[in-house]
Amino acid sequence: MTKHIFVTGGVVSSIGKGLTSASIGMLLEARGLRVRMQKLDPYINVDPGTMSPYQHGEVYVLDDGSETDLDLGHYERFTSGPLTRDSNYTTGQIYLSVIEKERRGQFLGKTVQVIPHITNEIKSVIYKLAGPETDVVITEIGGTIGDIESLPFLEAIRQVPIDVGKENCLFIHLTLVPYLKAAAELKTKPTQHSVGQLRQIGIQPDILVCRCEQSISREEREKIALFCNVPIQAVIEEKDKDFSIYEVPLSLVENGLDDLICRRLSLSTRQPDMTPWNDILHRLRYPKHEISIAVVGKYAEHKDAYKSIYESLDHAGLHHHAHVRVSRIQSIDVENEGAERLLSGYDGILIPGGFGERGIEGKVQSIRFARERQIPFFGICLGMQCAAIEFARNVVGLQGAHSSEFDKDSPHPVICLLNEQREITQMGGTMRLGAQKANLAPGSLAHQAYLSEQVKERHRHRYEFNNVYRSQFEAHGMRFSGTSPDGGLVEILELTNHPWFLAVQFHPEFKSKPTAAHPLFSAFIGAAINRHARRKGGRATDTIEIV
Ligand code: GLN
Repeated sequence: MTKHIFVTGGVVSSIGKGLTSASIGMLLEARGLRVRMQKLDPYINVDPGTMSPYQHGEVYVLDDGSETDLDLGHYERFTSGPLTRDSNYTTGQIYLSVIEKERRGQFLGKTVQVIPHITNEIKSVIYKLAGPETDVVITEIGGTIGDIESLPFLEAIRQVPIDVGKENCLFIHLTLVPYLKAAAELKTKPTQHSVGQLRQIGIQPDILVCRCEQSISREEREKIALFCNVPIQAVIEEKDKDFSIYEVPLSLVENGLDDLICRRLSLSTRQPDMTPWNDILHRLRYPKHEISIAVVGKYAEHKDAYKSIYESLDHAGLHHHAHVRVSRIQSIDVENEGAERLLSGYDGILIPGGFGERGIEGKVQSIRFARERQIPFFGICLGMQCAAIEFARNVVGLQGAHSSEFDKDSPHPVICLLNEQREITQMGGTMRLGAQKANLAPGSLAHQAYLSEQVKERHRHRYEFNNVYRSQFEAHGMRFSGTSPDGGLVEILELTNHPWFLAVQFHPEFKSKPTAAHPLFSAFIGAAINRHARRKGGRATDTIEIV
């Protein structure tokens, strides 16, 4: 019988439900259990694909091409259970499916209502993940208790114990226990209110995970336990971690959360094997190198807009025992202040993806700077497209070269729409999406990094490199080191007369893990470490093999 764990959040948003849910998933997997993760989002968009990064942060893309919430990035980095389209549902998707059923006549004669039709649909997407292959489904409910739009989700999960048995369900509520400086005290009232609201809906949380800046005393835990109707052992402290997010799962183990979950759900398991996570923390604490990387993006001021890229840079640092200092630089600032002023002194420059024209010229200038100064450069999606534009204009000599996304009348549209994209009028879910194969050229930087001739990487874009320009680019030193298996689409380009200049049309950041850094990020950081050592006058033996 599959067990169900529900994670809700109270008091404030951004309380870290995603990371806590991912950590719980990881701890259960470390005990040998088979876990499936799921996020239910109360907003009405069918998926986050149509939302601005300022609204929603990064859109995380899965192998099957679904565009999902960024919390799924935490799940995938921390756990290994498969994530699919069924791992993320929104109110929009739930209603869309119920309305489609109504139009097909599936509810003929009935009045279609929130209870039971919407709640049944919500339960059906939760039960989809259960089955003989799965020991535990962890379902995180987006939003905060008290939000009007999350009510149908809470009502649905309230009903789950009735369907599958109380002994097979566990409700974990993540809450904030703020410290009031003026009173020099931790305050438990917001938690009491939040749990009070949950109980009004009919959900009695089994475990409270309390986010706090200061440790919670036994007395305060007793108070929370009494007012919230849980035993004191079920009040688990989750203190802020200023060193690293990788401390979160370790501290939850220390505070007994995984033990409690397993006892409550009668899951007989071994103790978790935390060796890989202890190793990560050891590498973080004792780095052998320190380098700095500039990420020049359109949405660089928003810390979640390129979440997976920042994480992937950290993973590559862990791989090399290096501390990677990342500066987030707005591409529009490079346009205004110049690359020389903003980008001198970095060991590597990374240009991430994006949509729309703002800041494009700043990206192009940054790429020119990296190319001419021989600084390791990594371009991703729009970053690759801008690398093609820069090369066309400044090396091949194609004046006015551009992407037709930004200049419909460019004399040299080196990036353009494929025919299959020209006819599309719907915006949601219609880009080139999901995992696609690419063949790699033997001996290329890409091949050296992946150590494989074929790879599968995730895509999210409409525009492509324009094949009309391939031979002109090649004649000037650009190598197309990765293409779709039929050779028709450019997937990777690299420079032959540069230490490490590589750009990809796909998003490698969606496949990097702390325990297994992505090969291209590792190679990029390896090149940056080498440049750093050379600049410091290091000997050849100080430099490292790029693997
Ligand atoms: N805007 C570009 C395209 O649609 C790049 C997209 C991206 O960087 N994800 O092709």
